[in-house]
Amino acid sequence: MDTSFDQQHIWHPYTSALNPLPCYPVKRAEGVRIELDDGRKLIDGMASWWAAIHGYNHPALNSAVHEQTDNMAHVMFGGLTHQPAIEVSKKLIDMAPDGLERVFLADSGSVAVEVAMKMALQYWACQGNQQKHKFLTPRNGYHGDTFGAMSVCDPVNGMHSLFSNVLPKQIFAPAPQTLFDQLWNEDEMAPLIELLEQHHHEIAAMILEPVVQGAGGMRIYHPNYLQRARQLCDEYGVLLIADEIATGFGRTGKLFACEHADISPDILCVGKALTGGYMTMAATLCSEDVAMGVCQGEPGVFMHGPTYMGNPLACAVADASLSLIQQGHWHQQVANIEQQLQQELAPLAELEAVADVRVLGAIGVVEAHKPVDVASIQRHFVDAGVWIRPFGKLVYIMPPYIIQPDELRQLTQAIGSALN
Ligand SMILES: *Cc1c(COP(=O)(O)O)cnc(C)c1O
Repeated sequence: MDTSFDQQHIWHPYTSALNPLPCYPVKRAEGVRIELDDGRKLIDGMASWWAAIHGYNHPALNSAVHEQTDNMAHVMFGGLTHQPAIEVSKKLIDMAPDGLERVFLADSGSVAVEVAMKMALQYWACQGNQQKHKFLTPRNGYHGDTFGAMSVCDPVNGMHSLFSNVLPKQIFAPAPQTLFDQLWNEDEMAPLIELLEQHHHEIAAMILEPVVQGAGGMRIYHPNYLQRARQLCDEYGVLLIADEIATGFGRTGKLFACEHADISPDILCVGKALTGGYMTMAATLCSEDVAMGVCQGEPGVFMHGPTYMGNPLACAVADASLSLIQQGHWHQQVANIEQQLQQELAPLAELEAVADVRVLGAIGVVEAHKPVDVASIQRHFVDAGVWIRPFGKLVYIMPPYIIQPDELRQLTQAIGSALN
């Protein structure tokens, strides 16, 4: 494959057009392996950014797409509906934390976050409260790359500081401090309480990633923070939006990370693994109370409707992916991955280059003292037969759930040798 056209004309994520990092051409993918154009097969540690939880080229997902294609690829969702949308929404409501009864099918994670934020704003506006137009969010968050989502990403390391002049000014709380397995320290809630005390009259919602902060630093924090955030939002009349786009569908060892704290948000965003890594689709679920609030008074409707909303192909494959989840094997698979990651990554903490190692569910994170050189470490990984894409100081993996112990060992060994 000649990649010079790609180099000269095609944008890749977070990449320079002047001096793009090398891209490896891929021919196909199967199970946990990505096959390069030159025939080398790489064990995938990224699940294509949290998405391909069942592995590539899965027979059940393939046939869901084939069958749906032969039926209809797409029809508009305005004024029309179809079985794939109904089936996937039923499953989402079934699986999601209690009380989430209404589903908005969005076309990407960022859009699902925009939808959640618009719902929260419209909820208050429709009750005559125009004052509640801001969002409260912990630092180190990541919620996507569109403007509303950017405004609630970490203002410093959230990749969007360049746009700070045009973004709405939101209210940032300190990042959750107590880590997942540390002793809970209630004192850490004081700054959040103070912000709510001062600003609750202008805050529509608090938005956060439950338990695992993803692209904003791969931090894994104590579930009590989430539980206390839920209580405080209720106390101060603020909606809670849980962004489970990365954590949803078993990744943290629970079906949804909210379950670590036994809470339900008012609004929930899911995406990434929703279609098992096949198509772009996300969803925003909300409570009956939010849905009713949004639609009372003027304009009486929720003002959002993407062209490809409820795309039948995406719904059909998402439905098939959720069926696989419902079979329940993910539970043992994720538990096994967690145990092996703990065993094999923990010793890396002894390495000079390594600042911290952390694991939750099927997520393993090794944080270096200094930012890694992506191009050279990537070459090392490809030479070692694995696909791992670090960012900043973070070398992290979240493999497909179907990965076998010997394959996972190859990933952890490659991380060790890269950082040694
Ligand atoms: C990836 C991600 C998003 C954005 O989703 P896209 O599909 O890339 O737009 C939002 N929130 C979280 C927590 C994510 O991990």
